[in-house]
Amino acid sequence: MSDLDALQAWLGPGARPARHALTGQVGVALPPFVDHHVHLHLFDPAKLAEHGIAGVLDLGGDPDALARRECGIPEVAYAGALLTARGGYPVGRAWAPDAVVREVASSSAAPGAPGGARTAVDEMADAGASFVKVVLHAGAPTLSDDTLSAIIEAARTRGLPVVAHAEGAGMAQQAVRHGVDALAHVPFTEHLHGETIAAAVADGMLWMSTLAIHAGSEAAAVARSNLERFAASGGRVLYGTDLGNDQAGPQAVGVSVAELSALQDAGIRGPELVRTLTDAWPRGVVAGLASFVAGAPPAEEHALPEWLASARVLPAEELVAAP
Ligand SMILES: [Zn+2]
Repeated sequence: MSDLDALQAWLGPGARPARHALTGQVGVALPPFVDHHVHLHLFDPAKLAEHGIAGVLDLGGDPDALARRECGIPEVAYAGALLTARGGYPVGRAWAPDAVVREVASSSAAPGAPGGARTAVDEMADAGASFVKVVLHAGAPTLSDDTLSAIIEAARTRGLPVVAHAEGAGMAQQAVRHGVDALAHVPFTEHLHGETIAAAVADGMLWMSTLAIHAGSEAAAVARSNLERFAASGGRVLYGTDLGNDQAGPQAVGVSVAELSALQDAGIRGPELVRTLTDAWPRGVVAGLASFVAGAPPAEEHALPEWLASARVLPAEELVAAP
């Protein structure tokens, strides 16, 4: 096996030895890292790039503010406001001002119908959303099957995938049954049946990890068990931290050692672990950038999260092939 083969067996096919042309530093270039679950209105993203993150998915924010933000690094794809039932979660929560929530009152497919499913989806699509996010939360009024179907139908019409926040009894199952494209969190409130996990995998559903926010709670073990089975059956997992959500204490801005370690604990290792970071869903790869990690990768698996978390984002043109 050549050195390159060995490197790629460990870190995936996108890894290559590289030298930073400006500093001479030698290390490994990887495809740009993406945090697939953040909330930009709740933290300062300025330091993301120097801590390895080139792109983010904003999973719930003010669509007007997101549409107005300047382009730069990190590259941002967003859902806009969360679509929920009238009086549903997270209406009234301190972290979710009115601008980041839309209450969908009916399954109307008529464009412009007040409170209708189509109206809410059109607003997000017109504000530049790359996907829409629905809230399925059993602890509050929740979307009916009809309204959820209508939202999904409207999103398909606008060419947008659908991400669901699923929390509480039966909510992940509802998402799977409706063919939702992605779950914003690995299900953390109940152990899913094998059939539900198999159906999610067969349907190509994506799960965003967000494991570290459950640290120290019962939800951590539930999420781990669900994820172990989903990943072992071939389910596609995306690294996501819910950055801005500090329920388990403030999160560091950048690649999270805690999140990567929790993914490893669920059996996602080596090239699979790196792939959760470099998956370019839904918009394709962040052009012209690389996540560069100085030094040689560790030989020991347990040290991989810390090494990956020392990445920083560089223009790909500043990296030259190293022997
Ligand atoms: Zn979130």
